Amino acid sequence: MTARLDAVLGNVRVPASLVADPARFGGRRDRDYLAGNLIVRGGLVAGMTQDGPADIDLDGRLVTTPFVEPHCHLDKCFTIERLDFAGGRLLDAIAAQAADKSNWTYDDLRARAERGIREMVAAGTRLVRTHIDWEVDMRDADRLPLAWRVIGELAGEWRGQIAIQRAVLLPIAAMADVDYAQAIGRVIAQSGGVLGAFVFDQPERVAGIRNMFGVAARHGLALDFHVDEGLSPELDGLELIAREAIRIGHVGPVLCGHACNLAVIETDVQKQRIELTARAGLSVVALPSSNLYLQDRGRSIPRERGLTAVADLLAAGVNVAFGTDNVQDAFCPVGIHDPKRTLAMGVLAAHLKPPLGDRLPLVMQNAAKALGQSLHSVDGSSVDALLIWETGQLAELVSGGMQARCCSLRETLPAG
Ligand SMILES: [Zn+2]
Repeated sequence: MTARLDAVLGNVRVPASLVADPARFGGRRDRDYLAGNLIVRGGLVAGMTQDGPADIDLDGRLVTTPFVEPHCHLDKCFTIERLDFAGGRLLDAIAAQAADKSNWTYDDLRARAERGIREMVAAGTRLVRTHIDWEVDMRDADRLPLAWRVIGELAGEWRGQIAIQRAVLLPIAAMADVDYAQAIGRVIAQSGGVLGAFVFDQPERVAGIRNMFGVAARHGLALDFHVDEGLSPELDGLELIAREAIRIGHVGPVLCGHACNLAVIETDVQKQRIELTARAGLSVVALPSSNLYLQDRGRSIPRERGLTAVADLLAAGVNVAFGTDNVQDAFCPVGIHDPKRTLAMGVLAAHLKPPLGDRLPLVMQNAAKALGQSLHSVDGSSVDALLIWETGQLAELVSGGMQARCCSLRETLPAG
Protein backbone atom coordinates (compact mmCIF):
# COMPACT_ATOMS: atom_id res chain seq x y z
CA MET A 1 0.00 0.00 0.00
CA THR A 2 1.34 3.46 -0.91
CA ALA A 3 1.40 5.95 1.95
CA ARG A 4 -0.83 9.02 1.81
CA LEU A 5 0.52 11.99 -0.21
CA ASP A 6 1.24 14.81 2.26
CA ALA A 7 2.56 17.43 -0.12
CA VAL A 8 4.49 18.26 -3.25
CA LEU A 9 7.17 20.83 -2.37
CA GLY A 10 7.91 22.57 -5.64
CA ASN A 11 11.26 23.81 -6.95
CA VAL A 12 13.88 22.59 -4.46
CA ARG A 13 17.48 21.43 -4.90
CA VAL A 14 19.07 18.47 -3.11
CA PRO A 15 22.85 17.79 -3.18
CA ALA A 16 23.20 14.50 -5.08
CA SER A 17 25.80 13.31 -2.53
CA LEU A 18 23.04 13.17 0.10
CA VAL A 19 20.84 10.83 -1.94
CA ALA A 20 21.56 7.09 -1.66
CA ASP A 21 19.88 6.08 -4.92
CA PRO A 22 19.74 9.10 -7.29
CA ALA A 23 18.35 7.10 -10.25
CA ARG A 24 15.35 5.93 -8.24
CA PHE A 25 14.94 9.28 -6.44
CA GLY A 26 14.22 11.19 -9.65
CA GLY A 27 14.53 14.91 -10.34
CA ARG A 28 16.66 16.74 -12.89
CA ARG A 29 20.45 16.55 -12.68
CA ASP A 30 21.91 20.05 -12.35
CA ARG A 31 25.71 19.85 -11.78
CA ASP A 32 26.05 18.22 -8.31
CA TYR A 33 22.38 18.85 -7.41
CA LEU A 34 19.10 17.08 -8.11
CA ALA A 35 16.40 19.67 -8.84
CA GLY A 36 12.63 19.44 -9.05
CA ASN A 37 9.54 18.92 -6.87
CA LEU A 38 9.91 16.93 -3.66
CA ILE A 39 7.23 14.30 -2.99
CA VAL A 40 6.35 13.79 0.69
CA ARG A 41 4.32 10.71 1.61
CA GLY A 42 3.49 9.55 5.13
CA GLY A 43 5.98 12.08 6.56
CA LEU A 44 8.85 10.70 4.45
CA VAL A 45 10.61 12.04 1.36
CA ALA A 46 9.49 9.60 -1.33
CA GLY A 47 11.29 11.07 -4.36
CA MET A 48 11.39 13.94 -6.80
CA THR A 49 9.61 14.83 -10.03
CA GLN A 50 11.16 17.10 -12.64
CA ASP A 51 8.08 19.31 -12.94
CA GLY A 52 4.28 19.30 -12.59
CA PRO A 53 1.89 20.83 -10.05
CA ALA A 54 3.11 21.59 -6.54
CA ASP A 55 1.54 22.79 -3.29
CA ILE A 56 4.17 25.47 -2.77
CA ASP A 57 7.06 27.01 -4.73
CA LEU A 58 10.26 26.96 -2.68
CA ASP A 59 12.24 29.06 -5.13
CA GLY A 60 15.15 26.67 -5.68
CA ARG A 61 16.08 26.41 -1.98
CA LEU A 62 18.39 23.65 -0.76
CA VAL A 63 17.18 20.64 1.22
CA THR A 64 19.84 18.72 3.16
CA THR A 65 20.36 16.27 5.97
CA PRO A 66 21.51 17.93 9.24
CA PHE A 67 25.13 18.53 10.22
CA VAL A 68 27.04 16.37 12.68
CA GLU A 69 29.85 17.72 14.89
CA PRO A 70 32.19 14.80 15.61
CA HIS A 71 34.74 16.56 17.83
CA CYS A 72 34.56 19.62 20.08
CA HIS A 73 35.31 20.68 23.67
CA LEU A 74 32.30 22.26 25.35
CA ASP A 75 34.12 22.38 28.69
CA LYS A 76 36.89 24.66 27.36
CA CYS A 77 35.14 26.88 24.80
CA PHE A 78 34.81 30.67 25.20
CA THR A 79 37.61 31.07 27.76
CA ILE A 80 40.15 32.96 25.61
CA GLU A 81 39.10 36.43 26.80
CA ARG A 82 40.13 35.68 30.37
CA LEU A 83 43.32 33.70 29.68
CA ASP A 84 46.64 35.37 30.34
CA PHE A 85 48.10 33.73 27.29
CA ALA A 86 49.65 34.80 24.02
CA GLY A 87 49.36 31.60 21.98
CA GLY A 88 52.02 28.98 21.48
CA ARG A 89 52.61 25.31 20.97
CA LEU A 90 50.25 22.53 21.98
CA LEU A 91 51.90 22.00 25.38
CA ASP A 92 51.69 25.75 26.17
CA ALA A 93 47.97 25.66 25.35
CA ILE A 94 47.45 22.65 27.62
CA ALA A 95 49.18 24.50 30.47
CA ALA A 96 47.18 27.72 29.91
CA GLN A 97 43.89 25.83 29.81
CA ALA A 98 44.78 23.88 32.96
CA ALA A 99 45.42 27.15 34.80
CA ASP A 100 41.91 28.32 33.86
CA LYS A 101 40.23 25.37 35.56
CA SER A 102 39.92 27.25 38.84
CA ASN A 103 37.21 29.28 37.05
CA TRP A 104 35.18 26.21 36.06
CA THR A 105 32.25 26.60 38.42
CA TYR A 106 28.81 25.13 37.76
CA ASP A 107 27.48 28.44 36.41
CA ASP A 108 30.56 29.13 34.31
CA LEU A 109 30.59 25.68 32.69
CA ARG A 110 26.87 25.72 32.07
CA ALA A 111 26.84 29.16 30.46
CA ARG A 112 29.78 28.45 28.14
CA ALA A 113 28.68 24.94 27.14
CA GLU A 114 25.12 26.05 26.48
CA ARG A 115 26.38 28.92 24.31
CA GLY A 116 28.23 26.32 22.23
CA ILE A 117 25.13 24.13 21.98
CA ARG A 118 23.04 27.11 20.82
CA GLU A 119 25.57 27.85 18.09
CA MET A 120 25.45 24.26 16.90
CA VAL A 121 21.66 24.03 16.81
CA ALA A 122 21.39 27.35 14.94
CA ALA A 123 23.94 26.03 12.43
CA GLY A 124 21.77 22.98 11.69
CA THR A 125 23.69 20.46 13.83
CA ARG A 126 21.67 17.62 15.31
CA LEU A 127 24.39 15.30 16.72
CA VAL A 128 27.62 16.24 18.52
CA ARG A 129 30.40 14.55 20.46
CA THR A 130 32.14 16.72 23.02
CA HIS A 131 35.28 15.72 24.86
CA ILE A 132 35.43 16.47 28.57
CA ASP A 133 38.67 16.64 30.56
CA TRP A 134 38.90 14.01 33.27
CA GLU A 135 41.03 14.78 36.31
CA VAL A 136 42.92 11.58 37.04
CA ASP A 137 42.78 10.40 40.65
CA MET A 138 44.08 6.82 40.71
CA ARG A 139 42.37 6.13 44.04
CA ASP A 140 38.99 7.49 43.06
CA ALA A 141 38.00 6.64 39.49
CA ASP A 142 34.32 7.13 40.34
CA ARG A 143 34.53 10.88 40.93
CA LEU A 144 32.78 12.51 37.98
CA PRO A 145 34.18 15.88 36.90
CA LEU A 146 31.76 18.77 37.38
CA ALA A 147 31.86 19.42 33.60
CA TRP A 148 30.75 15.83 32.95
CA ARG A 149 27.68 16.34 35.11
CA VAL A 150 26.86 19.82 33.80
CA ILE A 151 27.05 18.76 30.14
CA GLY A 152 25.06 15.61 30.96
CA GLU A 153 22.36 17.86 32.42
CA LEU A 154 22.38 20.02 29.26
CA ALA A 155 22.20 16.88 27.08
CA GLY A 156 18.94 16.01 28.82
CA GLU A 157 17.51 19.50 28.44
CA TRP A 158 18.40 19.75 24.73
CA ARG A 159 17.25 16.23 23.81
CA GLY A 160 14.96 16.46 20.80
CA GLN A 161 16.93 19.37 19.33
CA ILE A 162 20.41 17.87 19.40
CA ALA A 163 21.89 14.56 20.60
CA ILE A 164 24.99 15.14 22.74
CA GLN A 165 27.62 12.45 23.26
CA ARG A 166 30.15 12.90 26.07
CA ALA A 167 33.66 11.45 25.66
CA VAL A 168 36.09 11.31 28.58
CA LEU A 169 39.50 12.83 27.82
CA LEU A 170 42.34 11.61 30.00
CA PRO A 171 46.06 10.95 29.44
CA ILE A 172 46.77 7.49 28.02
CA ALA A 173 49.35 6.86 30.78
CA ALA A 174 46.54 6.58 33.35
CA MET A 175 44.90 3.84 31.29
CA ALA A 176 48.09 1.76 31.44
CA ASP A 177 46.98 0.81 34.97
CA VAL A 178 44.58 -2.05 34.30
CA ASP A 179 42.57 -1.62 37.52
CA TYR A 180 42.08 2.08 36.88
CA ALA A 181 41.15 1.43 33.23
CA GLN A 182 38.51 -1.07 34.26
CA ALA A 183 37.10 1.27 36.90
CA ILE A 184 36.87 4.15 34.39
CA GLY A 185 35.22 1.79 31.90
CA ARG A 186 32.49 0.94 34.42
CA VAL A 187 31.86 4.61 35.23
CA ILE A 188 31.68 5.63 31.57
CA ALA A 189 29.38 2.70 30.72
CA GLN A 190 27.03 3.69 33.57
CA SER A 191 26.80 7.27 32.36
CA GLY A 192 26.40 6.37 28.68
CA GLY A 193 29.67 7.97 27.60
CA VAL A 194 32.50 7.34 25.19
CA LEU A 195 35.97 6.20 26.28
CA GLY A 196 38.63 8.60 25.07
CA ALA A 197 42.27 9.45 25.75
CA PHE A 198 45.12 11.73 24.72
CA VAL A 199 47.88 9.70 23.03
CA PHE A 200 51.12 11.53 22.37
CA ASP A 201 54.63 10.24 23.17
CA GLN A 202 53.93 8.74 26.59
CA PRO A 203 56.04 5.60 27.24
CA GLU A 204 52.92 3.89 28.65
CA ARG A 205 50.91 4.34 25.44
CA VAL A 206 51.13 0.71 24.28
CA ALA A 207 49.71 -0.66 27.54
CA GLY A 208 47.15 2.15 27.75
CA ILE A 209 45.82 1.52 24.24
CA ARG A 210 45.63 -2.23 24.91
CA ASN A 211 43.63 -1.67 28.10
CA MET A 212 41.27 0.78 26.40
CA PHE A 213 40.36 -1.72 23.71
CA GLY A 214 39.86 -4.41 26.37
CA VAL A 215 37.57 -2.19 28.43
CA ALA A 216 35.67 -0.97 25.34
CA ALA A 217 35.00 -4.53 24.20
CA ARG A 218 33.85 -5.54 27.66
CA HIS A 219 31.34 -2.71 28.06
CA GLY A 220 30.46 -2.09 24.39
CA LEU A 221 31.93 1.42 24.50
CA ALA A 222 32.86 3.59 21.54
CA LEU A 223 36.52 4.69 21.54
CA ASP A 224 37.90 8.12 20.73
CA PHE A 225 41.56 9.11 20.67
CA HIS A 226 43.33 12.46 20.43
CA VAL A 227 46.34 10.96 18.68
CA ASP A 228 49.62 12.18 17.13
CA GLU A 229 48.81 15.87 17.54
CA GLY A 230 52.24 16.89 16.35
CA LEU A 231 54.54 16.69 13.34
CA SER A 232 57.37 14.54 14.76
CA PRO A 233 57.91 11.25 12.89
CA GLU A 234 58.36 9.61 16.31
CA LEU A 235 54.64 9.86 17.06
CA ASP A 236 53.15 6.44 16.28
CA GLY A 237 49.82 6.37 18.13
CA LEU A 238 47.66 5.91 15.03
CA GLU A 239 49.67 2.87 14.02
CA LEU A 240 49.54 1.38 17.54
CA ILE A 241 45.76 1.86 17.65
CA ALA A 242 45.26 0.30 14.20
CA ARG A 243 47.48 -2.67 15.05
CA GLU A 244 45.66 -3.31 18.34
CA ALA A 245 42.23 -3.11 16.66
CA ILE A 246 43.37 -5.63 14.03
CA ARG A 247 45.07 -7.89 16.60
CA ILE A 248 41.94 -8.34 18.68
CA GLY A 249 39.43 -8.10 15.82
CA HIS A 250 37.72 -5.09 17.40
CA VAL A 251 34.30 -4.32 15.95
CA GLY A 252 33.03 -1.16 17.75
CA PRO A 253 33.44 2.43 16.49
CA VAL A 254 36.95 3.87 16.92
CA LEU A 255 37.58 7.52 16.08
CA CYS A 256 41.07 8.98 15.82
CA GLY A 257 41.38 12.76 15.93
CA HIS A 258 44.34 14.80 14.56
CA ALA A 259 46.93 12.29 13.20
CA CYS A 260 48.89 15.40 12.13
CA ASN A 261 52.23 13.79 11.35
CA LEU A 262 50.60 11.37 8.89
CA ALA A 263 50.79 14.17 6.32
CA VAL A 264 54.54 14.74 6.68
CA ILE A 265 56.16 11.38 7.49
CA GLU A 266 58.14 9.38 4.92
CA THR A 267 56.02 8.16 2.02
CA ASP A 268 56.56 4.44 2.71
CA VAL A 269 55.58 4.76 6.36
CA GLN A 270 52.65 6.96 5.40
CA LYS A 271 51.32 4.45 2.87
CA GLN A 272 51.65 1.57 5.31
CA ARG A 273 49.96 3.53 8.12
CA ILE A 274 47.05 4.58 5.93
CA GLU A 275 46.61 0.99 4.78
CA LEU A 276 46.58 -0.20 8.40
CA THR A 277 44.05 2.50 9.33
CA ALA A 278 41.74 1.34 6.53
CA ARG A 279 42.16 -2.34 7.40
CA ALA A 280 41.42 -1.67 11.09
CA GLY A 281 38.19 0.14 10.16
CA LEU A 282 39.20 3.29 12.09
CA SER A 283 37.53 6.63 11.40
CA VAL A 284 39.74 9.72 11.27
CA VAL A 285 38.59 13.24 12.09
CA ALA A 286 40.69 16.10 10.73
CA LEU A 287 40.59 19.25 12.85
CA PRO A 288 41.68 22.16 10.65
CA SER A 289 41.29 25.10 13.03
CA SER A 290 43.42 23.89 15.93
CA ASN A 291 45.95 22.23 13.59
CA LEU A 292 46.42 25.41 11.55
CA TYR A 293 46.80 27.40 14.75
CA LEU A 294 49.05 25.12 16.82
CA GLN A 295 51.17 23.09 14.40
CA ASP A 296 54.53 24.10 12.95
CA ARG A 297 54.98 26.89 15.47
CA GLY A 298 58.33 28.31 16.41
CA ARG A 299 59.27 30.11 13.22
CA SER A 300 58.00 33.40 11.89
CA ILE A 301 56.08 31.78 9.01
CA PRO A 302 54.44 28.34 9.34
CA ARG A 303 55.31 26.00 6.47
CA GLU A 304 53.40 22.87 7.35
CA ARG A 305 49.64 23.01 7.77
CA GLY A 306 49.37 20.30 10.39
CA LEU A 307 46.29 18.74 8.84
CA THR A 308 46.28 14.96 8.43
CA ALA A 309 46.51 13.28 5.00
CA VAL A 310 42.83 13.83 4.18
CA ALA A 311 42.85 13.08 0.44
CA ASP A 312 45.02 9.95 0.77
CA LEU A 313 42.91 8.58 3.65
CA LEU A 314 39.75 9.11 1.59
CA ALA A 315 41.35 7.47 -1.44
CA ALA A 316 42.22 4.44 0.72
CA GLY A 317 38.57 4.09 1.76
CA VAL A 318 38.99 5.38 5.34
CA ASN A 319 35.93 7.05 6.87
CA VAL A 320 37.11 10.68 7.23
CA ALA A 321 35.25 13.58 8.83
CA PHE A 322 36.01 17.20 9.72
CA GLY A 323 35.56 18.47 13.28
CA THR A 324 35.52 21.95 14.79
CA ASP A 325 37.62 21.11 17.89
CA ASN A 326 38.44 24.15 20.04
CA VAL A 327 36.50 27.40 19.90
CA GLN A 328 37.81 30.62 21.44
CA ASP A 329 40.06 28.92 24.00
CA ALA A 330 43.78 28.34 24.54
CA PHE A 331 43.98 25.85 21.66
CA CYS A 332 42.27 28.13 19.14
CA PRO A 333 41.42 31.77 19.95
CA VAL A 334 38.77 32.16 17.24
CA GLY A 335 35.92 30.11 15.77
CA ILE A 336 32.29 29.15 16.08
CA HIS A 337 30.58 25.79 16.58
CA ASP A 338 29.43 25.48 12.99
CA PRO A 339 30.32 22.39 10.92
CA LYS A 340 29.75 24.17 7.62
CA ARG A 341 32.41 26.73 8.46
CA THR A 342 34.68 23.90 9.56
CA LEU A 343 34.10 22.28 6.17
CA ALA A 344 34.98 25.57 4.47
CA MET A 345 38.24 25.71 6.42
CA GLY A 346 38.97 22.06 5.61
CA VAL A 347 38.40 22.69 1.90
CA LEU A 348 41.08 25.41 2.03
CA ALA A 349 43.55 23.66 4.30
CA ALA A 350 43.36 20.25 2.58
CA HIS A 351 42.98 21.57 -0.99
CA LEU A 352 39.70 19.73 -1.60
CA LYS A 353 38.28 20.43 -5.04
CA PRO A 354 34.70 21.35 -5.90
CA PRO A 355 31.96 20.34 -6.34
CA LEU A 356 31.26 21.16 -2.72
CA GLY A 357 28.31 18.76 -2.65
CA ASP A 358 30.75 15.85 -2.74
CA ARG A 359 32.32 17.16 0.51
CA LEU A 360 29.15 17.52 2.57
CA PRO A 361 29.26 13.93 3.91
CA LEU A 362 32.51 14.87 5.71
CA VAL A 363 30.36 16.88 8.15
CA MET A 364 27.20 14.77 7.80
CA GLN A 365 27.10 11.01 7.05
CA ASN A 366 30.84 10.30 7.57
CA ALA A 367 30.82 12.27 10.81
CA ALA A 368 27.79 10.32 12.09
CA LYS A 369 29.44 7.01 11.19
CA ALA A 370 32.57 8.09 13.06
CA LEU A 371 30.37 8.46 16.16
CA GLY A 372 28.84 5.00 15.73
CA GLN A 373 25.56 6.41 14.37
CA SER A 374 23.98 6.41 10.94
CA LEU A 375 22.51 9.48 9.31
CA HIS A 376 19.76 8.69 6.81
CA SER A 377 20.17 9.98 3.28
CA VAL A 378 17.52 12.42 1.98
CA ASP A 379 15.64 9.67 0.12
CA GLY A 380 13.36 7.94 2.59
CA SER A 381 14.17 10.38 5.39
CA SER A 382 11.54 11.85 7.69
CA VAL A 383 10.75 15.51 6.96
CA ASP A 384 11.39 16.13 10.68
CA ALA A 385 15.03 15.12 10.21
CA LEU A 386 15.73 17.29 7.15
CA LEU A 387 16.64 20.96 6.84
CA ILE A 388 15.62 23.54 4.26
CA TRP A 389 17.93 26.51 3.73
CA GLU A 390 17.20 30.07 2.64
CA THR A 391 19.90 29.74 0.01
CA GLY A 392 19.86 27.53 -3.09
CA GLN A 393 23.67 27.49 -3.39
CA LEU A 394 26.06 25.24 -1.53
CA ALA A 395 28.92 27.74 -1.87
CA GLU A 396 26.88 30.29 0.09
CA LEU A 397 25.77 27.68 2.62
CA VAL A 398 29.28 26.32 3.27
CA SER A 399 30.69 29.85 3.47
CA GLY A 400 28.15 30.79 6.14
CA GLY A 401 26.73 33.64 4.03
CA MET A 402 23.70 35.83 4.74
CA GLN A 403 21.26 33.17 3.55
CA ALA A 404 22.91 30.20 5.26
CA ARG A 405 19.97 29.91 7.63
CA CYS A 406 17.77 26.84 7.98
CA CYS A 407 14.59 25.44 9.47
CA SER A 408 13.05 21.98 9.63
CA LEU A 409 11.58 20.81 6.33
CA ARG A 410 8.45 19.93 8.32
CA GLU A 411 7.75 23.68 8.69
CA THR A 412 7.29 24.09 4.93
CA LEU A 413 4.49 21.52 4.70
CA PRO A 414 1.07 23.10 4.05
CA ALA A 415 -1.18 22.90 7.12
CA GLY A 416 -3.82 20.18 7.24
ZN1 LIG B 1 40.19 17.97 20.59
